[in-house]
Amino acid sequence: MRTLNDFNFKNKKALIRVDFNVPLDADFNVTDTTRIQAAKPTIIKILEDGGSCILMSHLGRPKGVQDQFSLKHIVSKVEDIIGVETQFVADCIGEDSVTAAANLEPGKILILENLRFHEEETNGDHAFAEKLAKLGDIYVNDAFGTAHRAHASTTIIAQFFPEKKCFGYLLEQEIKSIDKVMKTGEKPVLAVLGGAKVSSKITIIENILDKVDHLIIGGGMTFTFIKAQGGNVGDSICEDDKMDLALEILKQAKAKNVQVHLPVDVIAANAFSNDADTQVVDVTNIPDGWQGLDAGPKSIALNHDVVMQSKTILWNGPLGVFEMENFAKGTIELGNSIVEATKNGAFSLVGGGDSVAAVKQFGFEDKVSYVSTGGGAMLESLEGKTLPGIAAILE
Ligand code: AMP
Repeated sequence: MRTLNDFNFKNKKALIRVDFNVPLDADFNVTDTTRIQAAKPTIIKILEDGGSCILMSHLGRPKGVQDQFSLKHIVSKVEDIIGVETQFVADCIGEDSVTAAANLEPGKILILENLRFHEEETNGDHAFAEKLAKLGDIYVNDAFGTAHRAHASTTIIAQFFPEKKCFGYLLEQEIKSIDKVMKTGEKPVLAVLGGAKVSSKITIIENILDKVDHLIIGGGMTFTFIKAQGGNVGDSICEDDKMDLALEILKQAKAKNVQVHLPVDVIAANAFSNDADTQVVDVTNIPDGWQGLDAGPKSIALNHDVVMQSKTILWNGPLGVFEMENFAKGTIELGNSIVEATKNGAFSLVGGGDSVAAVKQFGFEDKVSYVSTGGGAMLESLEGKTLPGIAAILE
């Protein structure tokens, strides 16, 4: 695996695909700088080597050139965070970008305008990728968030740098974290899968059954499994057409010696509302008119035991409707357990969608081993797919 440390960037122009798709407020101020901070180690390494950085990114989903999606809005924030003079060029290809890149001095940063102002970016256009490639000497991909897309700047461009391409530190860390769970994790390996629906997690479940010793299933997915086994789930979210699949998963898990842990009790509510009446009920006996919206106390205790036994932990998806305060406890307590196991030496990876939001909201972010920066990219990795942006560097 070729990484930044395999290159010395002295007097070289690094062409770096970063993910600066950051949120902006109505006055175009950056409201969350996580993604800029995440790219900092890569940028600093190149500058300290004596090289310069040409940063390419997308921002939002523009239709053609739209000022509100211009990367000019984030230039001063990048300059603040990296602490280095940062220039901007108002098109990512064309004469001005060629001149700006050619004149860029070592130790300086140049940000190119939003790649997606050209539809060739998302189309994975070869000629467009070639124009971008001419701007730099070494191609660095540090954008995990778009690594599952075969776009011009994330994938196609790599072929123009057969010997001079590598992963940035962020992407390297993402790949290593996933490998730690999927390939090299110390046993017992545990996956916790929550979230709303079985249908959106099915490929992940099938793929990870070969890698884990324990599987905790929680959240809305639970009820398809419970009903399929003859339980009464009341008005809980349930995909009736996925019940056969749920039984098949349980059968496969048994054959593969994976211990599956479903909730035994839930917090049931008489409406999908934070103000609803609630009661703790057995998960197989939820009354009509009531729906399970969070893990119950016995389930929380069982989850804790499984987490504490595990040496490698993957967490994807909340265990209840954590957006509502009264149904957040199962998710928060799972987070506490994972933090405790991590303190005791377990490796914990949180990735993909809402579990990342939950981890940030409840302050676990710095207390687990790694929180992935890519939603869709993380989910596709867990499904066992080789991401095009990663394959393009490895080729
Ligand atoms: P996902 O994107 O599949 O990870 O699903 C996340 C969503 O699942 C969150 O918005 C949760 O509110 C929701 N969720 C978790 N548990 C339940 C549940 N028991 N009933 C309904 N929705 C749930």
